[in-house]
Amino acid sequence: MSDTQGDGPLSNQTATVETEPVVIGYCVHCRTKRQMQNAIQVCNRRGRYDLKGYCAVCGKAMYRLGGWEAVAAAARRNTER
Ligand SMILES: [Zn+2]
Repeated sequence: MSDTQGDGPLSNQTATVETEPVVIGYCVHCRTKRQMQNAIQVCNRRGRYDLKGYCAVCGKAMYRLGGWEAVAAAARRNTER
């Protein structure tokens, strides 16, 4: 009978799932930072999340340490003042 579901600040987002955040990763082929396309989150051996995708410029596979949370955290840091 106890309803204690009042601590969800993240449940405030609606209909913003389709716009994928821009993922910037280091492309070893371009030897610089590039935008990552088709980024998917994968689990590495340490139990952490990484992102796998393809370079928007050369199309080669690229990798980014940290999952979507790291990307969101970085984006949040950029937009904060
Ligand atoms: Zn590249």
